[in-house]
Amino acid sequence: MGRSIVFASGKGGTGKTTTIANVGVALAQFGREVIIIDADITMANLSLILGMEDIPITLHDVLSGEAELNDAIYEGPAGVKVIPGGLSLEKIKKAKNPERLRELMREISSLADFILIDAPAGLEMTSITALLIGKELILVTNPEISAITDSLKTKLVAEKLGTLPLGAVLNRVTSEKTELSKEDIETILDVPVLMVIPEDPEVKRASAYGIPLVVKNPTSPAAIAYKQLAAKLAGIR
Ligand code: ADP
Ligand code: MG
Repeated sequence: MGRSIVFASGKGGTGKTTTIANVGVALAQFGREVIIIDADITMANLSLILGMEDIPITLHDVLSGEAELNDAIYEGPAGVKVIPGGLSLEKIKKAKNPERLRELMREISSLADFILIDAPAGLEMTSITALLIGKELILVTNPEISAITDSLKTKLVAEKLGTLPLGAVLNRVTSEKTELSKEDIETILDVPVLMVIPEDPEVKRASAYGIPLVVKNPTSPAAIAYKQLAAKLAGIR
């Protein structure tokens, strides 16, 4: 069974999708089987960052019995696989058998070493579902107090749901004096900071090209951090 890890934040725009796309591709480059579930249907930008265009069949179509799981799995850069989420509140309400989602997650977990789940911001139903289907949690946050407090709320909810917080990724760090320190953030969140990812203009450039940064510019500072995080998750020293 693969590890299912949900990347969540609370606050929007902290870099969840960018992180998941690059860590996913880096894990695939290390030879791991990776499936990314895009649970953030409001901002379907995962496929854009990965340069994937037509991904019409979603997890929901599989849940509702209108498609087979295989039809909802799309291949991206370095062999990383993507399943579009499409789990809106309305659609979940309509799903006849909620247990089916758990079954489906077990099925997906048997197909890869890592199942990375890109959660939407906030704590709405879709975010809760994303937290529920992941067994482990990585908080993606920025070094500012509003992002940290929202991440703390997300962590507390995840723990109530039985999802294990692994730690936090501190993204867009500039090391200005106004930023909270890594140590402060570890104290507030009560989890280790797994990786510090610097603010890097190459991130936006890569996403404009639809090529993941770890492929487009693997020696840029953020790409190196994404690869280090992937190595950590894969247990590579
Ligand atoms: P989320 O999925 O949490 O909403 P995104 O991954 O979409 O966040 O990132 C939000 C914005 O921040 C995007 O424009 C992205 O290019 C930018 N961004 C993310 N990480 C970095 C970074 N390390 N350096 C510079 N820009 C970044
Ligand atoms: Mg996103």
